[in-house]
Amino acid sequence: MTSDAEPADRASDPSPNPALFDAVVNLCKRRGFVFPSAEIYGGIRSTYDWGPLGALLLRNVREAWWRAMIQERDDVVPIDAAVLTNPRVWEASGHLATFTDPLVDCRNCKERWRADQIGETCPKCGSRDLTEARPFNLMFKTFVGPLEEDASVAYLRPETAQGMFVNFLNVLQTTRKRPPFGIAQTGRSFRNEITPGNFVFRTREFEQMEMEFFVPPDEGQKWFEYWCGERLSWYRRYGIPDSMLRLRQHDPEELSHYSAGTADVEFLFPWGWGELEGVANRTDYDLRAHSEHSGVRLEYFDQASGEHYMPHAIEPAAGLTRTAMAFLLAAYDEDEVAGEKRTVLRLHPLIAPYQVAVLPLSRKETLTPLAREVLHMLQRHFICDYDETQAIGRRYRRQDEVGTPYCVTIDFDSLEDHAVTVRERDSTEQVRLPVTEVAAHLHQRFDTVR
Ligand code: ATP
Repeated sequence: MTSDAEPADRASDPSPNPALFDAVVNLCKRRGFVFPSAEIYGGIRSTYDWGPLGALLLRNVREAWWRAMIQERDDVVPIDAAVLTNPRVWEASGHLATFTDPLVDCRNCKERWRADQIGETCPKCGSRDLTEARPFNLMFKTFVGPLEEDASVAYLRPETAQGMFVNFLNVLQTTRKRPPFGIAQTGRSFRNEITPGNFVFRTREFEQMEMEFFVPPDEGQKWFEYWCGERLSWYRRYGIPDSMLRLRQHDPEELSHYSAGTADVEFLFPWGWGELEGVANRTDYDLRAHSEHSGVRLEYFDQASGEHYMPHAIEPAAGLTRTAMAFLLAAYDEDEVAGEKRTVLRLHPLIAPYQVAVLPLSRKETLTPLAREVLHMLQRHFICDYDETQAIGRRYRRQDEVGTPYCVTIDFDSLEDHAVTVRERDSTEQVRLPVTEVAAHLHQRFDTVR
């Protein structure tokens, strides 16, 4: 896997922790979170496939975001927009003209770099013989339909956000929402990054979780501050400790051309602080640009004042794949249980790939019917793993290593008393419960952290 270095951004950054990075990358491969893409063909640089546990992890992170951003609110609605859309969207949004990174070539080793990420020398060979920086557009171009001609050029979306702006009127008209209200979506985005790397931190295909919150123009700053707070507490809620989290306000010279204020939620990665999410006050820049380019006025009619106005948009834009990696890094721990070393992912119970593992004490046929009965009962409520191989201690360790918060063990006494043992991951404490009470007990435990 790649060892490309993400530059640390400030001199005060804490020292890097390559051991943690290596441990998590190895765990991801060993246990089926993340595989190099198309590994049997030698892979393709900085491209990954999410394996069985990774797919579950991504789904749980996505759901945690939906829960906070959509389910628990009455002022945000979801959409699911197309990846390939009318290229005029990208003309209006400014992506065709300005979604670029400064590219430099090393004349010595031919490696290409982002000029803003390196100093005067090539990080690979140390040569100072670099070309002038030139803008490189990050959008992937493709052709729609059977003819490779200009008329059919389209782009893979580099962000999901434009889907919210171009559907502004559709949502307004069909949902009866009015400002302040939000439109949210999760989905894949594509950027032809010059230097992808640091595992899934920066890839060319990734998933985003974004929301546009439309507000009356004079309420922009208030809602910007509100969403900075909400988003920071979301990461805390799902288990990132305060010591690894910070909100960094952009300096005025750092702001994008459309932004009246931006703050990044940053995570302490093994190489230093890195962005998980940007919260931006985009003002009416996007609705205005799309109104001008499409000829359709993207406005709201306020019946109370009898006025039309163009709402301002506050955008919390997060990366799902990058955040999943942050959750893994924050959760990784090694401790000792009964004199034995163990690796444990202290993932939030709702983020962990499996919520429950059902483990018959042995493979003996007499245990199987009850174990499968318990499994089927619990599968209606939770994502479950079922494992009947190896000694029970080994199986507990395997579940600890992937973060499963609860193990339910069926033993020979269970056949007599119809009770099972529930073991908790972090404390390793065990309680014995009647089979009929297990689902309710686990629900109660999950509800306290939901
Ligand atoms: P960066 O400065 O790291 O390139 P950005 O500021 O361009 O990120 P945004 O356009 O604000 O990123 O995208 C919102 C979020 O999408 C980022 O905070 C990040 O979590 C995620 N993201 C952006 N680019 C990538 C990528 N190439 N790989 C993985 N996630 C990404």
